[in-house]
Amino acid sequence: MSDVAKTPITVAYGDGIGPEIMKASLRVMEAAGAALDIQSIEIGEQVYLRGHSSGIEDAAWDSLRRTKVFFKAPITTPQGGGYKSLNVTVRKSLGMFANVRPCVAYAPFVPTNHPGMDLIVVRENEEDLYAGIEYQQTDDVMESMKIISRPGSERIVRYAFDLARSQGRKKVTCMTKDNIMKISDGLFHRCFNDIGQIYRDIEQDHYIIDIGMARVATRPERFDVIVLPNLYGDILSDVTAETTGSVGLGPSANIGPHCSMFEAIHGSAPDIAGRGIANPSGLLLAGVMMLVHIGQNKVAEKVHNAWLKTIEDGVHTGDIYQAGRSTQKVGTQDFADAVIERLGQTPSKLRSVSYPESEGRVAIGTVENHPPQKKEIVGVDIYLHSRLTTDQIAEKMKASECEGMVCNLITNRGVKVWPDGMAETFTSDHWRCRFMCDSTVTHAQIVTLLNKIIEQDLDFIKVEQLCKFNGEIAFSLGQGQ
Ligand code: NAD
Repeated sequence: MSDVAKTPITVAYGDGIGPEIMKASLRVMEAAGAALDIQSIEIGEQVYLRGHSSGIEDAAWDSLRRTKVFFKAPITTPQGGGYKSLNVTVRKSLGMFANVRPCVAYAPFVPTNHPGMDLIVVRENEEDLYAGIEYQQTDDVMESMKIISRPGSERIVRYAFDLARSQGRKKVTCMTKDNIMKISDGLFHRCFNDIGQIYRDIEQDHYIIDIGMARVATRPERFDVIVLPNLYGDILSDVTAETTGSVGLGPSANIGPHCSMFEAIHGSAPDIAGRGIANPSGLLLAGVMMLVHIGQNKVAEKVHNAWLKTIEDGVHTGDIYQAGRSTQKVGTQDFADAVIERLGQTPSKLRSVSYPESEGRVAIGTVENHPPQKKEIVGVDIYLHSRLTTDQIAEKMKASECEGMVCNLITNRGVKVWPDGMAETFTSDHWRCRFMCDSTVTHAQIVTLLNKIIEQDLDFIKVEQLCKFNGEIAFSLGQGQ
């Protein structure tokens, strides 16, 4: 590929089996003609142990900003507290909003109960419970915030549809839990329905996450592209990777407008590190995704088909080797050599792949600008930390009423306990007291109410506005209300 300018990429060799599988993967890609200008950085265990709690140093950020493409081997996160997940830090800091994980069965060469499986999980990568906003609010109650935004949801849904279109996929499925989280997951589902209108050529459906995940686990061949909020996507993508028959084969891409990261889905496998037996396939297939991303489609196709041919020829590393079905048990570098020998060949039993040069990387849509909504505060929820009884709290709330704001509901962990609570309901030291007003509430009125609550010698821990947006009620009712 001497006539092609080399594409700068940042490479991290990682920990454990990382250096072995990275060396093997790069050897195959370069033998196939990949034009890569490799800039190496150190991340992971040694960086953590040098005192960088995020596992990455400033110089590494500079390289990532320069190349915008990160080919990353797995790293080891040291045991014990205080170490932040490097992956979460990198993908959130650099805005990699989409996690893309293709999960394909390679039956009969890799045993699986679902030979027809060939799907892609597209997981939102920045929001949801991974916003990492958590508090201990009282002695007994911890809070973790689930943040779902309209631009975040629209962007990931649009990306999933564009990816489906670019790969000739027929269906996009959305999964949420909007029967319970009607506002947050409801927004994600609504964005799916709205954006879906632009992609009428693609079949679309929605599952509640619990039954959806069960269906994927039992009938994965019915799914094509699945788009989900962060936490559900995290769990589902591990279920789907495991269902293919081996986590050692799965690649993943983290895509953003500024920078993208490509890696295997497995970890650093310290139990087999240094023995030369690790399977480099997950990282190599991540490399294939990276080659398509940087426009070296023909090289990607050559590597991927040679890899399929190697698997089909039964040349297997120990993790997928089966006597009788495999023909040769090889180590990491011999596996790479077997792929290199087959460059230019295509599989005859497994389906070959094609990455036409006309197909560029999936474009990232711009965030739509919605007009501001008309917001009206109609009440306020005051959260209290208290060991008083329900009746004592209610009495103090009634005594705090002011400025037309009336306390009409008290819940404990979301369950209504006043008025007309049930004797059986368990109560903790975490209370929510809802004050509603017939007219629009001002910030000053809320401050007056808080002062009344202080006069009642109560410890308020949080204040949440109750609003109407464009005239629609935009808060949940208490359970049992
Ligand atoms: P792991 O994925 O490293 O290993 C799980 C099992 O799978 C082990 O038995 C291992 O030997 C085997 N395995 C994994 N990859 C293999 C391969 N390519 N070939 C053959 N066998 C393979 O998971 P773990 O043991 O839970 O985690 C080990 C370390 O990896 C931890 O420090 C964890 O934090 C880290 N980790 C890093 C990443 C990442 O960098 N993206 C992801 C997951 C875990």
